[in-house]
Amino acid sequence: MQTPKKIAIVGSGLVGSLLAIYLRKSGHIVHVYDRSPDIRQIEFSGRSINLAMSNRGWKALDGVGVGDAVREIALPMDKRAIHLVDKLNFQNYGQEGEAIYSISRGILNRKMIDLAEAAGAEFFFEQKIWDVTLKDATLHVGETERGVWDELKYDLVFGADGAFSRIRHRMQRQSMFNYSQEFLKLGYKELNIPANADGSHKLDSTSFHIWPRGDYMLIALPNMDGSFTCTLFMPFEGENSFDLLKDKKDVEEFFMKNFPDSIDVIPKLTEDFFKNPTSTLVTMKCFPWTYEDKVALIGDACHAIVPFYGQGMNAGFEDITVLDEIIEKHGDDWEAIFSEYQNVRKPDADAIAELSYRNFIEMGTKTADEKFLLQKKIEKRFSDKHPEMWVPLYSRVTFSDRPYTEALAIGDKQDEIMKQILEIKDIENIWDSELIENKILELVKEL
Ligand SMILES: Cc1cc2nc3c(=O)[nH]c(=O)nc-3n(C[C@H](O)[C@H](O)[C@H](O)COP(=O)(O)OP(=O)(O)OC[C@H]3O[C@@H](n4cnc5c(N)ncnc54)[C@H](O)[C@@H]3O)c2cc1C
Repeated sequence: MQTPKKIAIVGSGLVGSLLAIYLRKSGHIVHVYDRSPDIRQIEFSGRSINLAMSNRGWKALDGVGVGDAVREIALPMDKRAIHLVDKLNFQNYGQEGEAIYSISRGILNRKMIDLAEAAGAEFFFEQKIWDVTLKDATLHVGETERGVWDELKYDLVFGADGAFSRIRHRMQRQSMFNYSQEFLKLGYKELNIPANADGSHKLDSTSFHIWPRGDYMLIALPNMDGSFTCTLFMPFEGENSFDLLKDKKDVEEFFMKNFPDSIDVIPKLTEDFFKNPTSTLVTMKCFPWTYEDKVALIGDACHAIVPFYGQGMNAGFEDITVLDEIIEKHGDDWEAIFSEYQNVRKPDADAIAELSYRNFIEMGTKTADEKFLLQKKIEKRFSDKHPEMWVPLYSRVTFSDRPYTEALAIGDKQDEIMKQILEIKDIENIWDSELIENKILELVKEL
């Protein structure tokens, strides 16, 4: 147990509310501020963005005993359902029994706030934090940016206020603070596949559905109420782009041509298309993440990544697992805790940013590519026979809690090996032969 401190968390999102539970467990007084109204009081259908929860997320939830409460609102997806224009393929994500879990972000956030309140954290909604005085952990809160602000003094402040963090904004104004932000030339829009009249799902509910089309793609994740939340990722401008879909006819023709099997299951296609916003995707990196023993950033506030590995929240939750382990080690020395936390976590945050960026190419292009599918088959066969010698990159990221940096480094080496294997003459016909197995064994040993 640490000496109790008075701690403020800015942001009652997924990361802020889980952090609140951990800090309560360590005996601290925890106040959580959010500029938005209490998400538990807002009417929504439960069909907001879905997130895929995987091992790192579960580990953080289980670490504080709330995993089972969250499992009640999660649906397992053990495979990708790949919708090509003319056929449907399935590809398992991992070994038997391994799955990622679809959860509605809104429903999860409500649950996390309930759990944090039950653990004794106090929440203050509709409280806009405009600034922080770093040296004495004081928050500045007020109605408007130019109005009168009140001061809230704490021992420690955590900025869990997302990709456009105000807490980080203040830290950015110090010298030696590095910061970069890069938007993709691609945006996303949500659509909906409603449930059947009897409440069942219109598509297989144990799959992550993907319609890969090169530089654009559609995905769909199941909800508990029988619906699916779909997301269309597409460039803002150019040949296949949001820019070209100007009216109902454009949208209908585009979907008919490119996602023919989705037409029947998205009845409100054009209505939703023009009603729902087109949102941007950003990668944000920065360093340092902490200020002395007073202020620390966590989650998207210090590492916003593009969503193509389904790891943003998982990585934010893992920040908390790592922080908690470091707290165990250093006790009350918050300066040592913050220093080790940022030094350990920063390389892993950069690694998952890189992997997430690369996975867009894999999801959009490669899942529709015969050579890539062959590579996956070869890898799967080899890893089934020699599980200790070949854990696929996807599994290292998704079904493991080893550092992201390790996954990236080993993944690159495995890719080199597979490049050599795919160049072997007649590989399409001999991919499952002993010759290929032995060749991989030989190359793996050279690693
Ligand atoms: C399309 C899409 C799909 C995704 N899919 C996945 C996925 O499958 N798996 C996965 O793991 N991750 C996924 N993510 C990423 C995930 O959504 C984020 O990583 C996660 O929500 C970050 O949580 P957070 O608590 O750090 O920040 P946020 O969720 O952004 O929460 C920040 C909170 O801070 C509050 N706030 C902000 N500024 C202030 C202020 N000045 N004062 C007071 N309060 C403030 C906000 O109101 C908000 O409640 C996806 C993201 C997107 C965009």
